[in-house]
Amino acid sequence: MVASRSARERKAAAQAGPLARVRIDVGADEQFVYKIGCTECVVKADRRWSTYRPGDDNGFMAAMDRWIFHLREKHAGADAPCLEFLPAAEQRLHERRQQREREHPPRG
Ligand SMILES: [Zn+2]
Repeated sequence: MVASRSARERKAAAQAGPLARVRIDVGADEQFVYKIGCTECVVKADRRWSTYRPGDDNGFMAAMDRWIFHLREKHAGADAPCLEFLPAAEQRLHERRQQREREHPPRG
């Protein structure tokens, strides 16, 4: 469990690139919690931008997707291996939106 957590952490950190701070915690229910923070962006009251997603592979993917969008939005010139997954991340975002609309159709 511990070895696999730190191996995942190293892999995620390598993918996220030099601007990211990646941490994987183990939550109370024994599942992984992925945390990706930005080393440059301060959101408010000295808090760094970060995203936090529980779950194993799906948590990893959800956190990494958010990080990819953050990089595109705030650090357009930055390079990171995860940007290779931008088209896939956009596709997933699109599918999540469509699913939300199917479940909660807009009124009027
Ligand atoms: Zn940032």
